[in-house]
Amino acid sequence: MAAPPSPGPPPIDAAKTLKKVMADHFFELDEAVKTGEKKVAWCTSVGPAELLLAFDFLVYYPENHGAMLGATRMAPDMIPAANAIGYSPEICSYLTSDIGAFLQGVTPLQKAYNIQSVPRPYVLAFNTNQCRDVQDWFMWYARHFGVPCVGIHTHRDIGEVGPAQIADISSQIKDLIPHLEAVSGQKFDLDKFREIIGLSKECSVRWRKVLETCLAAPSPMNFFDATIHMGPAVVMRGRQESLDYYNLLLPELEQRIKDGVASVPGERHRLYWEGMPVWGKLRANAELFGSLGACIVASTYCNSWIFDAFDPAEPFDSMARAYTELFIVRDEAYKEEYVIDHVNRFQINGIVYHDAKTCPNNSNNRYGMPQRLADKLGIPFLTINGDLNDLRLYSEEQTRTNVEAFVEQLDEAA
Ligand code: SF4
Repeated sequence: MAAPPSPGPPPIDAAKTLKKVMADHFFELDEAVKTGEKKVAWCTSVGPAELLLAFDFLVYYPENHGAMLGATRMAPDMIPAANAIGYSPEICSYLTSDIGAFLQGVTPLQKAYNIQSVPRPYVLAFNTNQCRDVQDWFMWYARHFGVPCVGIHTHRDIGEVGPAQIADISSQIKDLIPHLEAVSGQKFDLDKFREIIGLSKECSVRWRKVLETCLAAPSPMNFFDATIHMGPAVVMRGRQESLDYYNLLLPELEQRIKDGVASVPGERHRLYWEGMPVWGKLRANAELFGSLGACIVASTYCNSWIFDAFDPAEPFDSMARAYTELFIVRDEAYKEEYVIDHVNRFQINGIVYHDAKTCPNNSNNRYGMPQRLADKLGIPFLTINGDLNDLRLYSEEQTRTNVEAFVEQLDEAA
């Protein structure tokens, strides 16, 4: 008779509240569209959300919707519709699945919340700090809805973020104000903006603490959990709801550490994940790594919503710094030092790179970094070929074989 499966880790209780926080976010947006009482602005995931909130916009994040299309595995059926109107299968599959879904009148919000459509924007605001795709993505919707699209163009491949870059980005943020005043019908309120920057800062402080609970061995949480629990840091930063959520989650994780609750029971290996998640395979990958005693304790991706620089005393400059100091904006030398620091602090003994076919911006394995870091750190790495949303570019079988071989390699090195 087969042995019963060994029990997994107890689920994180706060996840129930998280579901409600995320549902309320979409209900609030839907209500705003229906009643017309509040205006909706669309924002890129590391775009100027705080400025939009200062004008009382409700903020909707299409990348979050893109991740939902990935996680529900709807994306592969949506992408061809965007390809058919000229958006290449080679470009961001958030973009192609999101526009493809819109063209087909489909959204995961229908099944999840009985919401029939993404909320109509009054304005769209992007920052190219992460990639150019976001600008093209938002421009498509701006043309479709006949509404303004405004943005910040960030320098890329930066080593140290210096005064020249801060001055430029800060002035680009200020340049958005007249456009947002015109769309919102409100005058800019500096005190309100400072308050929102303060809330984002507090959210960021808490999110960092949540991620740093994974310094503990065994770790109370893993990368796959974090991709879910980061939701409020993405869509609710600048709002009290995000603080309330992390005030709930953090003590639970701290209690798990005290009680020795491991996210991966029998944790034998501690790994770093570099790159995007494979949204449609989160659970499968969590189970795969977990079954091999490998816990992914840190990642570039989840760290992307830590904004140490926010400072209400210097709202424009600090916002410019916060959104320019991101890993994705920086040069190779900075990125290598960043990963080395995390490997050392989190006691990591292997790195997994996800080469996401349609996101070169978040795939840092393509110019020799894995080999250079393996030489410097003396730990092995694995590259998984796949994609964030387009599962036609991902092989579950191949991934399983490669991950199993990688963990064997880690076992031999232990
Ligand atoms: S960073 Fe990558 S996944 Fe994100 S919007 Fe840009 S291309 Fe898409």
